[in-house]
Amino acid sequence: MSSLPSPPRATDGTTFDVRSPVDGAVLGAHPVHGPAEVREAVRRSRAAARRWAAAGWDGRRAALLAWKRSLARRMDEVAEAVAAETGKPVHDARAEVLLALVHLDWAARNARRVLGRRRVPSGPAAFGRRALLAYRPVGVVGVIGPWNYPVHTPMGSIGYALAAGNGVVFKPSELTPGVGELLASSFADAVPAEFADLFLVVTGFGGTGSALAESGVDKVAFTGSPGTARKVAEVCARTLTPLLAECGGKDAVLVGADADLEAAANAIVWGAMANAGQTCAGVERVYAVASVHGDLVERIVRKARELTPGRHYGPMTLPSQLAVVERHLKEALAGGAHAPLGGPESLRAPYVHPVVLVGVAEDAAAMREETFGPVVAVNAVRDLAEAVERANASPYALGAAVFTGTREEGLAVAERLTAGGVSVGSVLGYAAVPSLPFGGTGESGYGRVHGAEGLRAFASARSITVRRRAGGGTDLMSFATSREAAERMVELGRKLHAWR
Ligand code: NAD
Repeated sequence: MSSLPSPPRATDGTTFDVRSPVDGAVLGAHPVHGPAEVREAVRRSRAAARRWAAAGWDGRRAALLAWKRSLARRMDEVAEAVAAETGKPVHDARAEVLLALVHLDWAARNARRVLGRRRVPSGPAAFGRRALLAYRPVGVVGVIGPWNYPVHTPMGSIGYALAAGNGVVFKPSELTPGVGELLASSFADAVPAEFADLFLVVTGFGGTGSALAESGVDKVAFTGSPGTARKVAEVCARTLTPLLAECGGKDAVLVGADADLEAAANAIVWGAMANAGQTCAGVERVYAVASVHGDLVERIVRKARELTPGRHYGPMTLPSQLAVVERHLKEALAGGAHAPLGGPESLRAPYVHPVVLVGVAEDAAAMREETFGPVVAVNAVRDLAEAVERANASPYALGAAVFTGTREEGLAVAERLTAGGVSVGSVLGYAAVPSLPFGGTGESGYGRVHGAEGLRAFASARSITVRRRAGGGTDLMSFATSREAAERMVELGRKLHAWR
């Protein structure tokens, strides 16, 4: 057990209060860290990262698994911190922590396999040279996180970046700084004292995030909205700091004529309403073929009607999101949509009761922009081909789900979707599989967390060749090789490529 590292302090004495989204009670005060404190955290993390590198694969794996076990034992404490700051029910927060444990475990156990040095074929043009591929850590990763899954989402970067051998400085959302601080102190508690500074937290608003992006970190892993991602990308561009951007989604569920409608409705209601719809890869659009559309809508309405905000899901964590949800609803209804469940009256701050919309115009904000509330639009389509076309027409491409009569048909549809992750017969199925990468394209961002890609995202490939013996073969990279021998070699290579 080690003592806690002293957290970086705001020298200007500025702090901010965090309030419960349920009743507005002040939960705690946190420092607003400025550029100097952020740089100091990066410096300390970098110093610890040198010791982390010296610990080798086994040392890092042991430390990360010790942290994982400690988080598992402290699951209730972490879940309660999440529940307090986000307002989500504790049982949801516990499930979120479990997901983070699954990923941390995978990253710790697979880092060496994915990133460890290995031999690769040299190919005929490098005859006589052994080729080795190795990955080195990038250095210190700046992680900027959102509030909706304040453990699971940033841990998709933090756990994998640490496993890849890096230090991490984490700027949690200003809505969930207490969760971020708890993650860092639990790390310091669980690992040997020499690594206590490896993972540090800085708190504050956008300015602190921006300071982190320009602090000299070696990579930024950002999760949040595409608008903020653009600002972070601008800052990173100045120093060519690489950026991984996990942004929002407008995920669609496609339902075919032979689908199990009961299973589809269950999954859709959970995917759309869990966490009050505040899930980047939550269900926001449904495209059902016309022959089953009515039946599916009835089932969705029946199930969604049974949900009680405050019990099945929490409030809008970000109060200003209520206005976004309201605008989307009103605009959809004014544009000809119909609401078989709920409507603008469903907004009862801080909660939003479930809303089901049908016949929403495809160019309405409710179909184009992230609503981030317990609202689902269920539109009818001619066939699955049209469903694919509409699903792919979104500026976002994060996740999608497919319900069809057979798995084969579902797979065939999945392969035609542009989304970064597709679940057949469930929603968000891929998120619980640590070996599968997670991320999207377009407004959903770029790069991947989780899985082997998620480890490589925080590593830099190093290519090594080792010449086996002097004098063997024709060395094209030496003036000592005669012109004739070199030309014979090139001609041989040309013939080989012209033929095969
Ligand atoms: P946000 O973009 O408002 O903020 C994200 C983080 O960026 C916060 O920590 C914030 O303080 C920081 N920030 C704000 N301005 C900044 C700046 N100029 N420079 C640097 N950092 C800055 O997002 P949010 O409201 O916290 O989170 C919700 C969004 O996150 C939704 O769009 C959701 O879809 C997305 N999200 C995506 C994923 C994913 O993995 N793809 C996961 C969870 C959430």
